Amino acid sequence: MAGLTLKNVYKYYNKNTIAVSDFNLEIKDGEFLVLVGPSGCGKSTTLRMVAGLEEVTKGYIYIGDKDVTHIEPKERDIAMVFQDYALYPHMSIFENMAFGLKLRKYPKDEIKQRVENAAEILGITHLLQRQPRQLSGGQRQRVALGRAIVRKPQVFLMDEPLSNLDAKLRVQMRAELVKLQRKLATTTIYVTHDQTEAMTMGDRIVVMKDGFVQQVGTPEEIYHKPSNLFVADFIGSPSMNFIEGKLVVEDNKVNFKAEGFNIDVSNLININEVIEKEVILGFRPENATMENPGNTKWSTPVNASVELVEDLGAEKVLFMKASNQEFRVKIFDLNYDVKVGQSKQVYLNLNKIHIFSKSDGNKIYGC
Ligand code: ADP
Repeated sequence: MAGLTLKNVYKYYNKNTIAVSDFNLEIKDGEFLVLVGPSGCGKSTTLRMVAGLEEVTKGYIYIGDKDVTHIEPKERDIAMVFQDYALYPHMSIFENMAFGLKLRKYPKDEIKQRVENAAEILGITHLLQRQPRQLSGGQRQRVALGRAIVRKPQVFLMDEPLSNLDAKLRVQMRAELVKLQRKLATTTIYVTHDQTEAMTMGDRIVVMKDGFVQQVGTPEEIYHKPSNLFVADFIGSPSMNFIEGKLVVEDNKVNFKAEGFNIDVSNLININEVIEKEVILGFRPENATMENPGNTKWSTPVNASVELVEDLGAEKVLFMKASNQEFRVKIFDLNYDVKVGQSKQVYLNLNKIHIFSKSDGNKIYGC
């Protein structure tokens, strides 16, 4: 097995379409790496360049320490799993899984052993003699995975492999895939536009936008320490609240001020360090509360009215309004009395707020 390195990788489809720009990353041997971002941000192009299905315009790709930038796909020792399972309809499941090995002229006995092994790992032994059309979506997806596993490649590449499954099955397969990857310990790059998949599956996540890497980190880092507005907004559900305002220095304190908000943020920002005044304050819905916690970690209150209550069973999401500013608060105390139209005092967790530059969106203060 091997790690994977991308060095200053660019992809131009033409002068006007720069799909990937200066992509740099070292993926460790056995790591599960997720590329995530909105449609068109360059995830698939990156994956396809690693696979050798797309030419690299500039830069280098290494598998282990071997430069594979200009090597044929079949020489790269990778296996790819696609969104549409691409099974051959007229072949049995066994034949589908064996196909790649047959092409590579593996001995019959070894093919049989590898297919049976993979089928056992995936719990599809009883399906080996069936045709693809006799299988459910989830079973077909397992076969597609099986076809990758039998090859015992250095690297798995997966492009939205769960998107064709219904929501419940997707969640189940998500967990199965993670367990499988841990068991096989094969370096994996997994592409998705779904931030929940990224958060729950990746050892590390790469967030992309418009062909540029925005941030690389563990799910925890990406969630708690987003490096810019885009990442902060893209990761998390419901997403982070953003309030546009100003930093104002008065009475030896730094205050964040916006309509309805006047919050002392001196714990985050040294008075002498206030350079940018036009900022955006970010806080996650779960990092605000209505019960006065009475310690210094919490902000002075924001007066807000309850506009809507979404009851999600184990938690509630409140849509609040302070002056004209709308934001959401998540509460976990199901006995807490809250009704539309009530006025509440909302306190923000000062250890969990983020302050971004209004001009370029980069984080300037906060954890
Ligand atoms: P994602 O996988 O994140 O949805 P892609 O990597 O498919 O994004 O696409 C990145 C950008 O490259 C998009 O602007 C897309 O329109 C463009 N693109 C992708 N494939 C081609 C192609 N074969 N020819 C021209 N432009 C392409």
